[in-house]
Amino acid sequence: MTSSTDRPVAVVTGSSSGIGAATARELARQGFHVVLGARRTELTKELATELDGTALPLDVTDIDSVAAFASAIPTARVLVNNAGGAKGMAPVAEADEEQWRWMWETNVLGTLRITKALLPALISSGDGHIVTVTSVAAFEAYDNGAGYTSAKHAQAVVHRTLRGELLGQPVRLTEIAPGMVETEFSLVRFDGNQEKADRVYAGLTPLTAEDVAEVIGFAVSRPSHVNLDTIVLKPRDQASATRAFRRS
Ligand code: NAP
Repeated sequence: MTSSTDRPVAVVTGSSSGIGAATARELARQGFHVVLGARRTELTKELATELDGTALPLDVTDIDSVAAFASAIPTARVLVNNAGGAKGMAPVAEADEEQWRWMWETNVLGTLRITKALLPALISSGDGHIVTVTSVAAFEAYDNGAGYTSAKHAQAVVHRTLRGELLGQPVRLTEIAPGMVETEFSLVRFDGNQEKADRVYAGLTPLTAEDVAEVIGFAVSRPSHVNLDTIVLKPRDQASATRAFRRS
């Protein structure tokens, strides 16, 4: 970042769309200088201009990209590990290793890399907060979803481990585990197939990205001694990863 700011800094990964973009808006509204990281910088730049924040290129699967991103962020009070997603749905017997590698690299190693790189800045802020967006898939297993559910379980364990390892440090940790949220998530999962993506949300009212962002904003805005450890939020129409009520 070139310009200094009096506002506390919040870093949001995967802020070019969906939950990340909505969270960037929410944290800017709360008075943070938001640093937006994603690969589609044309989208983050536009949002950064609107929010008076900073857009930086970021590919969480690329060590050099993460290093360059972190070196441009000397101070940070909040990190939202949001970059992630799913690729495909297939039984384990037919698992596509490329898709699995994408999910593990993005959700698990991406969260690990960014967190490691920004941890010194978060600790030295004196009041750091790491929010990691996992999923109900971090708590449940479902047929044809093992690539994603295993990655989200692993991402969550990295985050939950830090909750213990950082005891005594001025850093809070909040895991946000949403159910169905209508974003670009299903479009990415089904390789741009809009019809398949729409079917995921058919007949029910899913969460919006803003619903999740408001909850993240609530966790971040509690007093420093209050740590919301885990928040699971789902549409009223959804009881579990595999059970939902759909109107015909
Ligand atoms: P989305 O609209 O597809 O957003 C995903 C974001 O992640 C995008 O901004 C994308 O930006 C970024 N991203 C993907 N790969 C990246 C990489 N290698 N480096 C940097 N950024 C990367 O989906 P979303 O629903 O908002 O997803 C946000 C998070 O919520 C994900 O972790 C997802 O697993 C989780 N989640 C979603 C749902 C749901 O139903 N939607 C439910 C539970 C949890 P670029 O493509 O520009 O890089």
